Amino acid sequence: MKKKDKFIIPFDSLKDGLHEYDFHANTEFFSNFDYTLIDNADIKANFSFEKKPGMFRLTLILDGVVNSICDRCLDDLQIVIEGEQEFIVKITEEVMDEYDHIITLSPNEQELDLTHVVYESIHLLMPIKIAHEEIEDCNPDVIAQLDEVNSSEEEEEEQDPRWDALKNIK
Ligand SMILES: [Zn+2]
Repeated sequence: MKKKDKFIIPFDSLKDGLHEYDFHANTEFFSNFDYTLIDNADIKANFSFEKKPGMFRLTLILDGVVNSICDRCLDDLQIVIEGEQEFIVKITEEVMDEYDHIITLSPNEQELDLTHVVYESIHLLMPIKIAHEEIEDCNPDVIAQLDEVNSSEEEEEEQDPRWDALKNIK
């Protein structure tokens, strides 16, 4: 991933206090990752970055959409991504256990790379099932066709001679 595509806060040169950063996670951003559920998106990632001596506080606000395809009817589907997360950034030599929402930096680092924080936070907000919420919202023509396929499969099952053979076992 090229450095210009990364979401970086050069904290070393910042004064103590509150700083705001707006990044943009779009289709190009996600194309930098080999494995992602997302290939078309337009999401604003706003960071409030509070610099204090030895410790920073980060608030991430995500707001946007992921464009995908409904698993059920294959129509286009827009997933709204909205969320807020807080992180603490600690500067320490210690190797700390990995905790959610705690980011550690060693004292010789000068910038904070938030690329993966944004990437992971967006994936956490993705629904487990990518489909229209209600079947009524799906493309009715496709659902009607699916119903037809399902019911003819059931009929075939009823006529399956193996079932008759099983019945005779009794
Ligand atoms: Zn659908």
